[in-house]
Amino acid sequence: MKSTQQSEFTMASGAMLLGVMGDPIIHTKSPIMHNAALKALGIEGNYVPLHIKPEGLEKAIQAILTLGFRGVNVTIPHKVEVMKYLDHIDEGAAKVGAVNTIVNNNGVLTGYNTDGIGYVRSLKEEVCPELRGKNIVVLGAGGAARGIIHALTAEQPGQISIVNRTASKAIELAQEWGSLANMQGLSEAEAQAAVNSADVLINTTSVGMHPNVGELPLPKEWIPEGIVVSDLIYNPLMTELLHVSARKGCSTHGGLGMFVNQGAYALEYWTGVDAPVAVMREAVLQSFKL
Ligand code: NAP
Repeated sequence: MKSTQQSEFTMASGAMLLGVMGDPIIHTKSPIMHNAALKALGIEGNYVPLHIKPEGLEKAIQAILTLGFRGVNVTIPHKVEVMKYLDHIDEGAAKVGAVNTIVNNNGVLTGYNTDGIGYVRSLKEEVCPELRGKNIVVLGAGGAARGIIHALTAEQPGQISIVNRTASKAIELAQEWGSLANMQGLSEAEAQAAVNSADVLINTTSVGMHPNVGELPLPKEWIPEGIVVSDLIYNPLMTELLHVSARKGCSTHGGLGMFVNQGAYALEYWTGVDAPVAVMREAVLQSFKL
């Protein structure tokens, strides 16, 4: 992933300008995380929140070049729209259909998607080192689910079952990527058997996110004892799904690791050096305590 070319850019261009474009953007934890990382790496630079409304996106992307930004993250609602303003789209991002990281290489803008690979890196590091042959159930079929499911197909899972409130989205996604892994799309009503035989259960829906912290994305009776249960939500850090699953002896994994690792991959694209993942994680954790 890292390239000499990127390292040279850092040295040649002085302070490294980075940022995140979104609407809204006020609650983002990315500047805290990336500025801590730049400091730990001894790289002079700054990562700033950029409130960009949809109608201003094209000009904002041009401004990356004008202002000499090394790169930016893009978040809701720009991840799909931004693709048409870039020079190149990485193959993985093109398949997922969304970009969350842009790299400016001497005036050429390339879009990447680090969400899915960041998630899988975190899942493997924290709770499930081996995904090969595992039965994986993914709740949800939105933007985050696409990135994650695409990254999971590279791990040779036994089966991926996608469950979604709007069943047609789950079925279409399973058909689209059916050649990459053994996959099925299910309605919520059809999901119990798949959940019962899951080794890994992943919630990618927003059910249980602040402020609706008491909500569960599935009936708790369905969750098998002792499996791996993962939730993309990181506010709260421990969702009701994870609380219930922990009481059933499951290994639990929250959304903080994905957030940190998608940022780590992005930082590695921009700087060409290993991201200080522990520092980044600690900076985000501390910000929750403020
Ligand atoms: P999205 O594209 O809007 O997709 C939302 C998904 O949740 C859809 O599958 C939707 O189903 C489902 N859903 C929403 N409300 C529901 C409900 N009441 N009951 C059942 N299903 C419901 O959003 P996204 O970008 O994928 O984000 C999803 C979650 O992932 C959010 O909580 C977000 O915070 C989290 N996330 C975390 C990270 C991280 O770094 N940790 C990164 C990205 C996203 P329908 O298709 O039926 O509408």
